[in-house]
Amino acid sequence: MKKFKRVLVANRGEIAIRVFRACEELGIRSVAIYSEEDKNSLFRTKADESYRIGKNKKPVDAYLGIDEIISLAKSKGVDAIHPGYGFLSENVEFARKCEEEGIVFIGPDHIMMSKLGDKIKSKIVANSVGVPTIPGIEEAVKSEDDAKKFADYCGYPVILKASAGGGGRGMRIAWREEDLLREFKSAQSEAKKAFGIDDIFIEKYLDKPKHIEVQVLGDNYGNIVHLFERDCSIQRRHQKVVEFTPAISITEEQRQAICSDAIKLAKAVNYRSAGTLEFLVDNTGRHYFIEMNPRIQVEHTVTEMITGIDLVQSQILIAQGYSLDSDEVNIKGQESIEKRGYAIQCRVTTEDPANNFAPDTGKIDMYRTGSGFGIRLDGGNGFTGAEISPYYDSLLVKVISHSRTFSDAISKNARALKELKIGGVKTNIGFLLNVLNHETFKNGSCDTGFIAENPSLLN
Ligand code: ADP
Repeated sequence: MKKFKRVLVANRGEIAIRVFRACEELGIRSVAIYSEEDKNSLFRTKADESYRIGKNKKPVDAYLGIDEIISLAKSKGVDAIHPGYGFLSENVEFARKCEEEGIVFIGPDHIMMSKLGDKIKSKIVANSVGVPTIPGIEEAVKSEDDAKKFADYCGYPVILKASAGGGGRGMRIAWREEDLLREFKSAQSEAKKAFGIDDIFIEKYLDKPKHIEVQVLGDNYGNIVHLFERDCSIQRRHQKVVEFTPAISITEEQRQAICSDAIKLAKAVNYRSAGTLEFLVDNTGRHYFIEMNPRIQVEHTVTEMITGIDLVQSQILIAQGYSLDSDEVNIKGQESIEKRGYAIQCRVTTEDPANNFAPDTGKIDMYRTGSGFGIRLDGGNGFTGAEISPYYDSLLVKVISHSRTFSDAISKNARALKELKIGGVKTNIGFLLNVLNHETFKNGSCDTGFIAENPSLLN
């Protein structure tokens, strides 16, 4: 058991604040890092200490400087580093170096991460324990010819994916042979450019599946539980926009089958910390594992609302060596986890829906938030006078509602979105309201084709 005194968050914005809050509640001192471009950002003032990093580096690279971050952590007496999501959160090298330097990486160890962080490898693990995956080739495809052979065998459409990909990037759909031949090389070079490795793989492209994912938590002693599923089917260009839990459009049997496959897979690697197993469900109701995210996710909030379990605190406690059933983590077995009601998260971004969701920048000249019964706001950069820069993710605030019924969770979320008044930069609030008010959303049955098929959501 190693009690943490100081935890550094190798991240920025809302997730950095989320972790600082958890630290404060656990009586741990929080340490922020920030780039030159973030010197006036809100998040750094929410930590107990903050240090500038990345001198002369590009804005994004500041948060990717493995050696600089670790040596800063060491010089400040930091016990552990929380990586948040994005940036270094799935970087095996970073996790390994933290371990080497005696700093606890709050997440799985680097070996576990290397087994799972990569989409091809995690598919292989899934197949080895009998968890269904989408038909595809379980290794990097090296040539157009190999890709074509697979597509001829399983039929079009197929999808090319970057093995190291994330955030909906690095995917190309081929509806016919010409597309495949045309897209192959650019998919490879895009993968190399965005993720540093040009490994791409191919699998069958499912027709408008649902995206259902399962939250798991594991400790250092082999205990693993799931905290039910989330429906993240409402996506724009393969990126999640609205998430909710529990999923409504699957049966209880499907829910149990998906959650039990998630546990099977997490157990196969003896998973530790918070993680998510993502599945696609096709229109016949079959589910397929697609990838594992060995980190906290943007949408973890909805799971916290219905289970009452603080996932970030749990991560920190597990990293200190507490077991799931300790009084600190306080999860006394799978059966002890109950869910109450429905929770919905809308991602408010500084993007202009009328201009193909181009990120908008500038000074926020008015920032008034909604609140009230059943509302939680997890924000990072929003306040009157804040400067929205073009350098980072455009997520401004997450509006999360929780209620006894799905329909009331929708009403509460819509009400909070209407109360949220942001001036000076464009946001997607109107678009989110259109999603919440749509009949298909209201009956919980959106699939991943929903946004693309409903251009009226932009009005
Ligand atoms: P990322 O890691 O970039 O988020 P994922 O592999 O999790 O990528 O996929 C993101 C989304 O892309 C899925 O939720 C789904 O909408 C779509 N997708 C991925 N693979 C397939 C597939 N084989 N068939 C249909 N849709 C897919």
